[in-house]
Amino acid sequence: MASHIVGYPRMGPKRELKFALESFWDGKSSAEDLQKVAADLRSSIWKQMSDARIKYIPSNTFSYYDQVLDTTAMLGAVPPRYNWNGGEIGFDVYFSMARGNASVPAMEMTKWFDTNYHFIVPELGPDVTFSYASHKAVTEYKEAKALGVDTVPVLVGPVSYLLLSKPAKGVEKTFSLLSLLNKILPVYKEVISELKAAGASWIQFDEPTLVLDLDAHKLQAFTDAYSELESTLSGLSVLIETYFADVPAEAYKTLTGLKGVTGYGFDLVRGTKTLDLIKGGFPKGKYLFSGVVDGRNIWANDLASSLSTLQELEGIVGKENLVVSTSCSLLHTAVDLVNETKLDKEIKSWLAFAAQKVVEVNALAQALAGQKDEAFFSANAAAQASRKSSPRVTNEAVQKAAAALKGSDHRRATNVSARLDAQQKKLNLPVLPTTTIGSFPQTLELRRVRREYKAKKISEDDYVKAIKAEIKKVVALQEDLDIDVLVHGEPERNDMVEYFGEQLSGFAFTVNGWVQSYGSRCVKPPIIYGDVSRPNPMTVFWSSTAQSMTSRPMKGMLTGPVTILNWSFVRNDQPRHETCYQIALAIKDEVEDLEKAGINVIQIDEAALREGLPLRKSEQAFYLEWAVHSFRITNVGVQDTTQIHTHMCYSNFNDIIHSIIDMDADVITIENSRSDEKLLSVFREGVKYGAGIGPGVYDIHSPRIPSTEEIADRINKMLAVLETNILWVNPDCGLKTRKYSEVKPALKNMVAAAKLLRTEL
Ligand code: GLN
Ligand code: ZN
Repeated sequence: MASHIVGYPRMGPKRELKFALESFWDGKSSAEDLQKVAADLRSSIWKQMSDARIKYIPSNTFSYYDQVLDTTAMLGAVPPRYNWNGGEIGFDVYFSMARGNASVPAMEMTKWFDTNYHFIVPELGPDVTFSYASHKAVTEYKEAKALGVDTVPVLVGPVSYLLLSKPAKGVEKTFSLLSLLNKILPVYKEVISELKAAGASWIQFDEPTLVLDLDAHKLQAFTDAYSELESTLSGLSVLIETYFADVPAEAYKTLTGLKGVTGYGFDLVRGTKTLDLIKGGFPKGKYLFSGVVDGRNIWANDLASSLSTLQELEGIVGKENLVVSTSCSLLHTAVDLVNETKLDKEIKSWLAFAAQKVVEVNALAQALAGQKDEAFFSANAAAQASRKSSPRVTNEAVQKAAAALKGSDHRRATNVSARLDAQQKKLNLPVLPTTTIGSFPQTLELRRVRREYKAKKISEDDYVKAIKAEIKKVVALQEDLDIDVLVHGEPERNDMVEYFGEQLSGFAFTVNGWVQSYGSRCVKPPIIYGDVSRPNPMTVFWSSTAQSMTSRPMKGMLTGPVTILNWSFVRNDQPRHETCYQIALAIKDEVEDLEKAGINVIQIDEAALREGLPLRKSEQAFYLEWAVHSFRITNVGVQDTTQIHTHMCYSNFNDIIHSIIDMDADVITIENSRSDEKLLSVFREGVKYGAGIGPGVYDIHSPRIPSTEEIADRINKMLAVLETNILWVNPDCGLKTRKYSEVKPALKNMVAAAKLLRTEL
């Protein structure tokens, strides 16, 4: 019975690659230093998998930045602006594409399916020429072989590569990316031949786009591509790997009909329909790579339950043809539980990070082969049982309250226009009111204070004093700038989710549970392990302190339930929406306490609402329904005079605009600085709806300081579509990553632009 791992995290257990990359980019270490760190990481990963007796060990899942960018390099598809002169692509061109350089910006990056990983989007036009320009796949295969490990080289499949690309500038509307298939396949053939010559016996093509809603034309491209590759692939065993969702019935038919393919990999954790398809018919003699170990989460596998699924599958495909695998690459989970020295022992027994998941995969394969490690299985069963019955997981009152929400509707009684009138009487704001999104620059000094308080190096008193002083500074600055609705600046927060998670019951935190987000950037999601409740107010002290420093309205600042959910590792023992409702109830308590404390404007950020949208259209309506419902629950209890703001990053709202309106916020601020036109339709809907709208008037992601004229011009463009009385003037997002030297002049110009336009109205 065989075992397989789809892919493995690259960063290293202590983010070794991150530090090596950043040191290289800063010119503090050489290319050889970086290559050495990378080679050590790869060899330890291969060794770990071979020690765990994994049969199909992947190679080429390492990357210095991103596997899609690696494929772009392999194909020599470098956009002309990077001045690549042919030859093997080196760090220079590679990192220029990833990060930009002094004269050229980076290529666009976007989310990898519904994960928090971002890939570099290939830019392809009719003039692109392809050539075999990065031999990385072959080099890595040989490197592993020299270490005594025969690996399965992994390539991003040709059809998924094209479907994830975007047409180059100028041909956006007219160009068919799939028309390039016949141009990239010759390069794939060269790579395949080289891998064969180097001794590879298997090859894995990742074709995750097969889980999307693809039309017949796109499905046909898979059939065409693999028919074309068939003769080159002969002599190799070929695995087509899918992940992140069920495979739709049509795609399953296409996939299992592909020529020259030996096995298929499926995500058996997300959704249950693929299992039904397999039960309904699986091609004779082919291998089934069963992804039963979750690559997207941190929970220990329920081995007994997986084993029974596998045994059932064995009955369908035969003993020799069943391979135990992970649901997707382990890239999307944390690296190694061994380094979690501070985690509670019981909670730790419920978890498995990438290193532990490798062991689980092997244990399942051994058990199927009749060599069950009884001790390992019974320890796992005990952990599963303890998780089910642990009092720290269950809070009956919370369960009951959350269950009662399902199926019901929660909406503020008065409509938004009437509410805005009531609020205006109280707030008395000018037209084009100015505000910011929440955070102000986080100086090194500020970070030091928080760190020392956490490490108990400074007293609570000193900490409170320091934070109060920071708030005072931020309030004074905003009054100086003459901003209308103030914020306290979020100096007490490290991260907008972690800050709340730390104060809510049901959350645990890791020390090294990092997951790659893009390039060298990693995030450390909190773990939601139990029913969520709020033992004490979380922000009231700071918000009311800030309000006491000014007579202007002070915005309370909260993170919304959907964002807390989407940026955490979520429990898998109850549906996501139930967890979300629980968080919503906790935030609701906070909203109401803020209101009682005299805060009249409360912003509830839902930065991550869009990214939780399921991949398959058939599942989107349900998600949006409970996500938006959760948001409304948080503020259904406030008076008409309390103004609820929400903020969302990202600008591709067009497809979910009705859901955004359904959130029924009084004011919506959104990122806009990079794509005015796309948002026009959103604005128009906004007019109908009547809520206040604050499309960001300048880009906070860049250090550039926009001029008054430029901002005024942008506001004018918005005014052409929107009514004056609903438009707010604010930056795109929080200012925490900027410097004061950038923020002060930028906000000054922003307020000046608003004032200028007020006189012209
Ligand atoms: N209030 C948060 C801030 O300003 C919002 C951040 C975000 O949208 N990502 O930092
Ligand atoms: Zn934002």
